[in-house]
Amino acid sequence: MNDDYLPLSYINQFAYCPRRFWYMYVQGEMVENAHVLRGVLNHERAHTPGYETTAPGVTVHRRVYVYSHALRVTGFCDLLEEYADGRLAPVEYKQGRQGKWHNDEAQLCAQALCLEEMTGKSIEQGAIFYFGSRRRVDVHFTPQLRLRTGQLITEMAHLLARGEIPPHTEHRKRCQGCSLIDICLPDETAQLQSRP
Ligand code: SF4
Repeated sequence: MNDDYLPLSYINQFAYCPRRFWYMYVQGEMVENAHVLRGVLNHERAHTPGYETTAPGVTVHRRVYVYSHALRVTGFCDLLEEYADGRLAPVEYKQGRQGKWHNDEAQLCAQALCLEEMTGKSIEQGAIFYFGSRRRVDVHFTPQLRLRTGQLITEMAHLLARGEIPPHTEHRKRCQGCSLIDICLPDETAQLQSRP
C-alpha cells in the first residue's frame, strides 16, 4: 500500500477542526488527558485482532484492516459485523458521548466505502458505540454522508499538499472540548491579532 494513503482514523479529527488534524497528524501532537487515556484503554479490547460469534447468526470480526484505492485511504474497523445473510456492518468505538458535531459518522462511512470497494457488497449502515453513554447509535450511509466523507478526504489531501497549518476553526465552541487548546491558543491568538 502506498505511503501517501491517508489514515481514515483522522477523518473525524479533520471534520472537527482541520487545524486539530494538522497538529495531530502532521506534528504528532497528543495531549494525554484523562479523556484520551480512557479512550486508549477502552479501545484495547476492540483493537485485538480476531473474531467471535455473539448474537445468533452474527460473526464479529475485530480490528479489520480496510483500504480504498479510489479514495486513497487505509485504516481499521474496530469491529466488523457479518450477518448470516452476508450483510456487513462496521462498528466504531468512541470515548465519551455522541457529540453534536457529527464528525464521527464520516470516519465510519469511510470504513464502509472501503469495505464496499474491497468486497463488492453494498453497505447500508453501521454503528458507533459510545462508552460514555453506553449507547450504540446506528449510522445510515446516506448519499449525503457518502458525499461529505469523500469531500473531507479530498480536503485533507489538499491541505497536506499545501503544507500550511490551517487557521483556527470558526466554530469556537469546539475549542472548549479540544484537548489541544493549550497548544493551539485560539483566544490568545485572536486577542493578539485584534491589537492595532
Ligand atoms: S483549539 Fe480550536 S482551533 Fe485549535 S485545534 Fe482545537 S478546535 Fe481547532
